[in-house]
Amino acid sequence: MQIETEFAIIGGGVAGLTAAIGLNQLGCEFLVFEQAKELKGIGAGFGLAANAMQALDLLGLKKGVEKIGFYTCSYNILDQCGNVLLAPDTKKLSRQYNQDNFTIHRADLHFYLLNQLPNENVILGKKAIHFEENAETITVSFEDGSTIKCKYLLIADGVKSPLRQQLLPHSTPRYSGYTCWRATIDKSSIQLDQGSETWGKQGRFGMTPLVGNRIYWYACVNSEANNPIFRNYTVEDLTRHFKDYHSPIPTILAKTKNEDLIWNDIIDIKPLTHLAYGNILLLGDAGHATTPNLGQGACQALEDVAVLMDELKITDSVPEAFRNFEKRRLKRTKYITDTSKRIGEISQWDNPLMVSFRNTIMKLLPARIAQSGLAQLLSVDFMKIGK
Ligand SMILES: Cc1cc2nc3c(=O)[nH]c(=O)nc-3n(C[C@H](O)[C@H](O)[C@H](O)COP(=O)(O)OP(=O)(O)OC[C@H]3O[C@@H](n4cnc5c(N)ncnc54)[C@H](O)[C@@H]3O)c2cc1C
Repeated sequence: MQIETEFAIIGGGVAGLTAAIGLNQLGCEFLVFEQAKELKGIGAGFGLAANAMQALDLLGLKKGVEKIGFYTCSYNILDQCGNVLLAPDTKKLSRQYNQDNFTIHRADLHFYLLNQLPNENVILGKKAIHFEENAETITVSFEDGSTIKCKYLLIADGVKSPLRQQLLPHSTPRYSGYTCWRATIDKSSIQLDQGSETWGKQGRFGMTPLVGNRIYWYACVNSEANNPIFRNYTVEDLTRHFKDYHSPIPTILAKTKNEDLIWNDIIDIKPLTHLAYGNILLLGDAGHATTPNLGQGACQALEDVAVLMDELKITDSVPEAFRNFEKRRLKRTKYITDTSKRIGEISQWDNPLMVSFRNTIMKLLPARIAQSGLAQLLSVDFMKIGK
């Protein structure tokens, strides 16, 4: 059987596009297959912590990305009235990497990554539905009836990956218990210099400034999965829901347009026991989707690619590089998924007594202990883990 490309990458998100850039730099033959007909980078903003900036630096992409984002020097956790519960010392935490935290609009990052690749290597409108492996080749089938034969398969098609599901039927995403709205708005009439996340009885509300005079916000509310009431929620409903929250939350909501609201249930996958399967590798959310409570999903996708390229540089055997990648990535990504899940559970408490107890403890706890989860994550050089 004739091989049509050495590497087939399924999914043109952060993981897939960055992996493609890395393979391009190494001179490997590759094709990216993305289900969307147009790469719009759906979503709002996201934070790239110091570890992600380090990964971008290693991939030679940091300088370009810096031009389209915003460095944030502080980020506070607040109560419903706007009092500080925790002010993580992100500067101290970032010292390990000599990098700062950064925020960027997802669409801007996707366009930047896409522009680093030859057009003909990214094939849109290709939804992968199945793969078959024999001794020499892997054949991926797409929804439109076409197929591609490759030697190595990088599965980077996100948390709901049908190819991972085929490989590991028990890896169905799990629902976190809370649902989320996101949007980006123009901030000309709102003064916002730093990011924050507010933990209150009615849910969580996060906001952060972006370049181009914009604000990215998100709100998480406890709910059953796929709640039909929340499916139809409008800006007016959300403004009512968060009416008792501190300024400028009601104003930010009131300034949001209904057509800009993005709604989805928050899901992750139970940490897997393997990421490498011979000539097949799971990358990014497809391999280790986490809830967004540590803001690390995309950061981990970028770490994945930096580590994978490091391995591919030192061995001619791709399956060996995949195995070594797994050794370096499994424990760290499991730690993030587990820690993020725990933080999500605590931050979504809605019982008034529990909320009051949590907030008191958070105010009393020395910052060193309160931010130990983050410290454990950022105080380690991810490139040295498992080497
Ligand atoms: C509310 C929220 C806030 C977040 N905030 C942050 C943050 O602040 N910082 C951070 O680092 N991370 C954050 N994340 C996580 C981050 O969005 C993800 O971890 C990241 O997007 C993962 O990238 P990926 O490329 O692995 O997957 P995705 O971004 O999901 O990309 C997968 C791609 O594959 C395509 N695809 C899917 N199925 C197929 C198929 N069958 N065939 C072909 N293509 C397919 C999709 O269209 C998509 O383009 C957040 C997530 C959420 C939900």
